[in-house]
Amino acid sequence: MTTSHALASYLDPANPGAWGVYLQQVDRVAPHLGGLQRWVETLKRPKRSLVVDVPIELDDGTIAHFEGYRVQHNTSRGPGKGGIRFHQDVSLAEVMALAAWMSVKNAAVNLPFGGAKGGVRVDPRKLSRGELERLTRRYASEIAIVIGPAKDIPAPDVNTNEQVMAWIMDTYSMHEGATVTGVVTGKPIQIGGSLGRREATGRGVFVVARAAAARIGLDLSGAAVAVQGLGNVGGVAARLFAEAGCRVVAVQDHGGSVHREAGLDVPALLAHAAAAGSVRGFAGGEAIEPGAFWSVPCDVLVPAALEQQIGAANAGAIRARLVVEGANGPTTPEADDILRARGVTVVPDVIANAGGVTVSYFEWVQDFSSFFWTEEEINARLARILVEAFDAVWRMAEEKRTSLRTAAFIVACTRILEARALRGLYP
Ligand code: NAD
Repeated sequence: MTTSHALASYLDPANPGAWGVYLQQVDRVAPHLGGLQRWVETLKRPKRSLVVDVPIELDDGTIAHFEGYRVQHNTSRGPGKGGIRFHQDVSLAEVMALAAWMSVKNAAVNLPFGGAKGGVRVDPRKLSRGELERLTRRYASEIAIVIGPAKDIPAPDVNTNEQVMAWIMDTYSMHEGATVTGVVTGKPIQIGGSLGRREATGRGVFVVARAAAARIGLDLSGAAVAVQGLGNVGGVAARLFAEAGCRVVAVQDHGGSVHREAGLDVPALLAHAAAAGSVRGFAGGEAIEPGAFWSVPCDVLVPAALEQQIGAANAGAIRARLVVEGANGPTTPEADDILRARGVTVVPDVIANAGGVTVSYFEWVQDFSSFFWTEEEINARLARILVEAFDAVWRMAEEKRTSLRTAAFIVACTRILEARALRGLYP
């Protein structure tokens, strides 16, 4: 029996948002779960959602209040794991969706974690460094009651970085009275971070794209690649595609879009974006309208910015053979159907961008043992785990005749619900 719950009130039928998209994805996987369908409602309800007030003193002496969240969607397979996002549009419903996708991602790649996510509704670009540190420390104090190395381990996401993780680790450690490096991942190397973590998500996008290209007979050398988002994920992926001999023909970020059919000079573009804050104004390519980005002829399209970027309105214009989701939730279910009908292969986020959490897992393991691995070991283990996960999903898609997304959800949700069924209900 399913029962209604207040979370449904977050759903506007006209614009279901990320949580609504996730619920539709679960509905698509449910018929493939056999006897585990008995437990499927588990997937539709976050285990624990914490909403906190984050008051800080601004530099001008006034007090500002921000809303923060930490959602643990599922912990059947292990502690919660997922990033923290600082963005003016963060909401509880969005964090619920991102936490749920972490449960699916960690299970799809077979990491011993559940799924969690956090965020603060703030535009961090408007804060000074001191204000950002005070915001981070107060938020970390507020969520300290639910996080910990054996409970829930945050990591970076949009607009958070190694420095933010260092502040969270320090704040948590002050509460504990001892240094607890394993409470967050994505930390600086000097305080228990892992080699290869900073680049891991973008590297994973590239590794999975290479495996998918081989499956569909696409030769990556000289292939045209378009990337949306030139941040931690898209920036690294763009560089690795270029180093592998691809032409990165179009890049879009929050400030603008640039195009060059012969291929953009990616290191120069990255340097420009770092200095100017955006790709806008880059002299080595022509500026194009944001909407035109989606119809640029290319072989591989990597959405690596925010969710719901590919919808019914632009999916029909996409010219790529392969879409590799660097971002979380960039494609709506309607767009999935349009792309599938047009023969475009979509490698879902839960596999394509799992490189970051995989190396986060390595970081957490290294912190426990206080024994650190070489970058070669890390990159080799990362590639092996991602290619194995991709191959398993590819085989499932062939067997069940589904999209790669539904296949990834079948693999992952089966693992989550098997754990749920084995553990049973408490008390
Ligand atoms: P980031 O903040 O480093 O970069 C975000 C990029 O997206 C920037 O280039 C920004 O300009 C661009 N962007 C923002 N709004 C945009 C818009 N409206 N249109 C076009 N571009 C826009 O963030 P990130 O860490 O690279 O994360 C990007 C995506 O990848 C997010 O969906 C995140 O959840 C996901 N992700 C990140 C990691 C990680 O390890 N960082 C891991 C898994 C998934």
